[in-house]
Order: sequence, then structure tokens, then C-alpha cells
Amino acid sequence: MAFILALDFGGTKLAAATVNIGSRKWLRYERRLSPASADVSTDLEIMRSLIYSLLEDAKPAAIGVSFGGPVDASTGTVRLSHHVAGWENIPLKGLLEDEFGVPVGVDNDANIAALGEHRFGAGQGYDSLFYITVSTGVGGGWILNGKPWRGAGGMAGEIGHIVVDPAGPVCLCGKRGCVERLASGPYMAQNVREILENVDAPAALRRVPQRRGGLRDGEVLRGLVGNNLELLTGQLVAEAAAAGDDLAKEVLHKAAWALGVAIGNVANLMNPQRFVLGGGVMKAGADFWQVVRQVARETALPEVDFEIVPAVLGDDAPLWGAVAIALITNPQFVNE
Ligand SMILES: [Zn+2]
Repeated sequence: MAFILALDFGGTKLAAATVNIGSRKWLRYERRLSPASADVSTDLEIMRSLIYSLLEDAKPAAIGVSFGGPVDASTGTVRLSHHVAGWENIPLKGLLEDEFGVPVGVDNDANIAALGEHRFGAGQGYDSLFYITVSTGVGGGWILNGKPWRGAGGMAGEIGHIVVDPAGPVCLCGKRGCVERLASGPYMAQNVREILENVDAPAALRRVPQRRGGLRDGEVLRGLVGNNLELLTGQLVAEAAAAGDDLAKEVLHKAAWALGVAIGNVANLMNPQRFVLGGGVMKAGADFWQVVRQVARETALPEVDFEIVPAVLGDDAPLWGAVAIALITNPQFVNE
């Protein structure tokens, strides 16, 4: 029976799985953490051992790969990894094709997740959708007319670095007030921390409306981390907001606002049927989603119709997306 081999190079973890074509149940599945000292050769070595352990002597019909970093999908070459050293210009597709003798499709994790949701998840039946992951970063992937839209240089969909507040705090990309700077988990935690530490927070950061002196302002947050502010995360900010912490609510609201503004503008520009949101944002709570939807609706033109829905594939999204790209890469499986 023809089966697909799906691989996920996730930055901190490596996973491999096999699935029969047409099935929605993994045949075999293995994952391993990438060691802290990982480089490209240890990553490849671990992945190779996962693959041989899964395959034994069988040969897949095709291989799909999700990579957590920029990829030139036309050649299947990894440009670099932000997490693991040595991945610069690694021809991953070529390496796998040489070793296993079957067609290989490779793309970055955002495009892959978009493909996975389109084929197996919240995007089934929608020919134009935009997938957004809101997690340690904010990334996006387009599906237009049922296919990935990567742009001329593979850079399409970078919603994380759309500027929504030009006077906002400086992002790692050098611009001010990007969506990622306001809505990613680590940056939300940093925004809260800087306000609580009352250090020389940039003036722009104080634009987060504050009701200082409120009894619960930051109290829940401090309690969650035993007053060790270094331990704050985006998830804890969301938990503190749910427990009524005013400061956490305000930072979370600003994050939802930033996403909503960006989504509304993207809706005006490209008019997709659906926005599918995945990543840590799934746990941000009902208020967060309500603000995203309301602000996006207010930002877009009234004539522009769209829905904002949660992703459904969860932790296995990169692997299901890898299955999808393996099928797309092989014309004989397009209708499977
Ligand atoms: Zn940025």
C-alpha cells in the first residue's frame, strides 16, 4: 500500500510519521527533542535514525517536509534556521531525494501548516485562506485558489511584520509596532515585565493604557511566577488576564487589537474566505478572540466578507501539512 513519509524539523523537536495515502491515521509516529547543542549534522542524524526506524525496509511513495525557518520551496533549499546552527543553504530536498529515491516537497512551517489546514483541517473546502500562527513568533501562509502563494521570493504572508503602530516598541526586525512585537507570546511577556519592573520602558510601551493603582494590577501575574518576572510567558499573561489581572488584560487586549488590525487590512488586500489562527493563541481565551474578530471587522471594508476560526490540527499540524505537500508534489496523488 502506498504511503507518505512526513517529517517535521521544528527547531526544538524533530518528528517523523508515516500514513497510508487517503488515511487520516498515522501508521507509525516518532518524535525526539533536538539537543540544546544541536547543529545541522546532529539534526540530520537524528532525523535519519527516526526515518530508518519508521521505514524498516519499506519505501514511501513520497516525502513531505516542514521546516521551522525560511525555505526556498522551489528548490527545497533551507535558507537558515533561527534555532539550530549550520542550516544555511542546505539542499534538504536534494539530500532526501538522493538518499531515498522518491519525490520530496519541502516548505517552511507556516506555509506547511496552511496547507495542512487547507487539506485536512479548518480550511477544508475553502480555496482561499490565510493561516496565521501566533506563538513565539507570528507567521502566515497563504492558500490562494487551492495552492500555496509564496510570492516572488518566497516571502509572502509575513503578517507578523506588518506595522500596526508606527510609534510602537521596536521589533527584532528593526521596525516599530509590528504585529509580532505586540502579539507574540515572548513579546507580550516582555511588555508586561517591563511595565512591572518599571524600568526605562520606551515611551511607546506606556501607550498600553494602564490603570495603575488598581488593586489587581499585575498582582495575579506576580503571583503566578512567585514574583520572578523572568518566568513570565505569553501563556501566563493569558491566564492572569482570565483571572482578572488588569495589566495582563490590557497587554492581551493590545495583542488582540494588533492582530485584528492586521487581519482587517489583509482582508481588504486579498479578500480570503477564511483566516485560520493556530499556535499558542488557541489558549488565549474567548475575550481575546472576540477582540480580534471585532477589530478585524471594524478595520476591513464593510463589503469584505471573511471568517476568523481556530486551527484544528494541533501539535501534528506540521506533519499533516508535510503529508499535504508530499501529495501536491506528486501529480498522480493530487486527487487523493
Ligand atoms: Zn517586526
